[in-house]
Formats: sequence, structure tokens, C-alpha cells
Amino acid sequence: MSEKLSFVTPTANSPWGTYLSQVDRVVPHLGPLARWVETLKRPKRALIVDVPIEMDDGTIAHFEGYRVQHNMSRGPGKGGVRFHPDVTLEEVMALSAWMTIKTAAVNLPYGGAKGGIRVDPKKLSLQELEKVTRRYTSEIGIIIGPHTDIPAPDVNTNAQIMAWMMDTYSMNVGGTATGVVTGKPLHLGGSLGRVKATGRGVFVTGREAARRLGLDLRGARIAVQGFGNVGSVAAELFAEAGAKIVAVQDHTGTIVNDKGLDLAKLVPISRTDGVVGFKAGGDIVPNEDFWDIACDILIPAALEGQLTADRAKKTTAKLVLEGANGPTVPQADDILAERGVLVVPDVICNAGGVTVSYFEWVQDFSSFFWDEDEINVRLDRIMMNALNQIWDTADKHKITLRTATYAVACERILMARQERGLYP
Ligand code: GLU
Repeated sequence: MSEKLSFVTPTANSPWGTYLSQVDRVVPHLGPLARWVETLKRPKRALIVDVPIEMDDGTIAHFEGYRVQHNMSRGPGKGGVRFHPDVTLEEVMALSAWMTIKTAAVNLPYGGAKGGIRVDPKKLSLQELEKVTRRYTSEIGIIIGPHTDIPAPDVNTNAQIMAWMMDTYSMNVGGTATGVVTGKPLHLGGSLGRVKATGRGVFVTGREAARRLGLDLRGARIAVQGFGNVGSVAAELFAEAGAKIVAVQDHTGTIVNDKGLDLAKLVPISRTDGVVGFKAGGDIVPNEDFWDIACDILIPAALEGQLTADRAKKTTAKLVLEGANGPTVPQADDILAERGVLVVPDVICNAGGVTVSYFEWVQDFSSFFWDEDEINVRLDRIMMNALNQIWDTADKHKITLRTATYAVACERILMARQERGLYP
């Protein structure tokens, strides 16, 4: 008998509601370990912090920050920090839970955690951004650490922000603790290949899924939603493999080109002006038109809840690669499965980032750094092994790749939970 959580009211398509229904779907496949499943339906620890800073104009501003450690049965918490005006505790809880599933799915020795600040970083000066980052790090400093919980970049955070986090934590403990965050600049204990790792993982899993579907990447039509670190890198790798990127959407709008967008021009322009800045290279269309564009592969690489039931009904894609965390709502998952559209779920598809974060953390501890080839070879091997195992599980039990990923991951997590036992 367990009481419901009082501090969150999930709805069917909200991030935590989506996560809970994904867990419910795996329960019949857990056997006796199902006894422990409630562990996954509540975070181990959630911290809400006030982040006050003095703005450049002398006023005082307050922001709300979070760090949620969902599960640590298999190792320290691991997961990014997101700066976004819509961040909520509920969203960070779901993102932390997806990290638990993700690290277990690729068998990294971590649990899952996530952090966020409810702030629009585009409205802050560089100095204000640094103050917000440092105060937030100091506030969550009581629960993070190289052996307890290791933050990393996520939406709107980058290597510079990780450098400030590392420095703040280090100042507070009186040393230099490079292993407290990953995704750092190269000369501060960062790893080669980390920036491109998430997009690369999307490509590696997508290439294998396409091969198994008999879908030739040469000439394949791809639509990408979200053109940051994940979407743009995945798009470039698919284009190198011969695919055509026919539509891209970001926060500025949607651009399409039936012959394929010229990424060498689009990527740099999008960094400053968004994708609509590349008007000369395609047609700007209404955002909703993105979802029924004729394509073979759809890559949602923006935020949660984007692939709704209506959009799942109209997509022409045969393959969906979830670059974002939680982009597909459960109802849409069912519609895609009925329509025979294969979904490579977020918790495996975008696990390349945390995998190279793991390499970075290992390199920091040994103070010995690997070359980029070694990183990429190891990344490809881990992603392929994980995907093959999940595919076999899906075939054996006739379940979707998502439920198969949850089955593999939850078995690892709950086995660790059971073996460790309850304390006291
Ligand atoms: N934010 C990324 C994710 O959602 C990476 C997390 C990490 O490297 O710890 O997987």
C-alpha cells in the first residue's frame, strides 16, 4: 500500500504522466521484480532552491531551481541541467526518471537525476547568466558531487556553464573537482566527442533501425524538429550518409526544401538567426505543416510532448528517432504502433550524450584522455550492443522498442534495488 505523491498532479500527456504510463506498460514483463516497481514511480530525492541574483540594472531577481535524484540504485545520479522559462518540478522529475531508464538501458554505472532553472537565459546578460549558474550550483551543492550526482548540459546549457558549475563546486569544497560535472570545455577535463555525442547516437541507432527496416539512407527524406546540439548534428550525419533533410523546425519557425536543405549554410545561420534566417535556401511554412511533410524519417529533437495523437495520425514517416526526451505522448505511441511506424525511443536513441559523459567522468578520474576515434568506436559499440539487446527483447515478447527498452532497463534497476535490500 503506497500513498500517491502530493507534490505533483500528472495528467495523461504531462511529462510525469507520460513516464508513469510508460512504466505501467512494462510491469507485465517484470516477473517477480514487479514487487519493487513503486520505487520507479517516485523520486528518491527532490530539492527546490531559490536562486536570487543582482541584475545588471541593480534590481534583485529570484528564479526557481530544481535538482531531482530519481534513482541511485545502480550508481550516482546523472543527468543534465536545463535553463528554460517553462521548467517545472514535474518536468524535471520526469526528465530525471528518463535518465534512470537511459543509463540502465545502455548499462552505464549510474542512476538518474536532472536539474533545471525556470529562467529564460536569452533575456540574461552573460554576467547575469554566470550569477544564476553559480548561485544555483552553490544551492544544489549539498546534494551533488563526483560520487553522488553529476550534472551535465541539457537544453540551453553548454560547456561554459559547466565550467562555472565546476568552478563554483570546487571553490566550495576547496579543490578542483573536475568529475562533478560533464560536458566541460576540453582544457578543463572535458572529453573529445562530447558535443556531438547525442546527435551521433541518434544517427548510429537510426542507421541500424533503417537497415533492419530495409530503408536505404541514400535519398531518404528526413524531417527534424529542434536544431540545437542534437538535431543539427544528427541532420549533418544523415546528410553525409546520403539522406535529404527536407524540413527543419526550431523556435523561430519551419523551413522546407523538397530537394534537401543545404546544411553547410543552414547550420551556421541557424545559430544566430534561427532556421528562418535561411529563407534563401527554402520555403518558410506554418509550423503545423511540419507534421505531415512527406518524409521517411522523423526526428523530434526539441522538447517533450511534441508528437501528439493528431500528429501521429498524419505523419508519413516510417521511422521516428527520438532525439528529445519524452517527445511522444502515450496515445501517439499507440497510434504509431498501430500504423506500423517504428519508434526508436529517447531512452536509447539519445543516450549517446550521457555515454560520452560517462567516458569524460572516467577520464577525469584517471587523468588520462582518449583520442576522438577511441571515444567514437566505444560509443558506437555501446549503442549498438544496447540496441541489439533491446531489439531481441522486442521480437521475443512482441512488444514495442520502448517497452522492450524499459523491460531491459527496469530489470537492471530493480535487480540492483532487490540485491541491495531496504535500509533499515
Ligand atoms: N542532457 C543529456 C540527456 O538528456 C545528457 C545528460 C548527461 O550527459 O548526463 O541525456
